[in-house]
Amino acid sequence: VASKECSVNDLLNGVLSFSAAVLRKQKIKVRLNLQPDLPSIFADVDKLKQVFVNLIINASEAMPNGGILEIKSYNVDNQLVVQFVDTGEGIPPEEQSRIFDPFYTTKPTGTGLGLSISYQNIKLHNGTIEVDSSPGQGTTFTIKLPIEQNTP
Ligand code: ADP
Ligand code: MG
Repeated sequence: VASKECSVNDLLNGVLSFSAAVLRKQKIKVRLNLQPDLPSIFADVDKLKQVFVNLIINASEAMPNGGILEIKSYNVDNQLVVQFVDTGEGIPPEEQSRIFDPFYTTKPTGTGLGLSISYQNIKLHNGTIEVDSSPGQGTTFTIKLPIEQNTP
């Protein structure tokens, strides 16, 4: 993995700056709740950005009539947590275990690859990605990434 030291908040802001116009056009309000002074992590920046873009696109596709996308970052112990919370259509419980499978899609022209690639990219970083969703209320994706200890 082509890892380097990076700030997850900077990556999120970067990805959002080029998605902002599309989201605004779709009447999606973005609420950013990024913890200042998060520890930096070692990561493959392009792979993490790809995950964030996928999650933002999926959220926007789940809210065709607008809604709210909240993006949070914080750290708990040695883990950095990034959450994407949308007010979209949600995912039925029986489908939630399949959404990370390659080619699983419920969209007429979907590829079903976004979440499968995201899962792989997070796994490469020894992290986890999980979904929590209530149909009709919305969906939350939670990413946890290890913060490496810098031994002196
Ligand atoms: P695609 O977007 O091409 O369908 P993905 O792998 O990105 O493929 O997502 C797989 C499926 O997971 C989607 O088709 C959709 O059913 C579901 N999904 C993903 N993100 C969300 C979300 N934020 N809200 C509701 N459903 C979602
Ligand atoms: Mg997708």
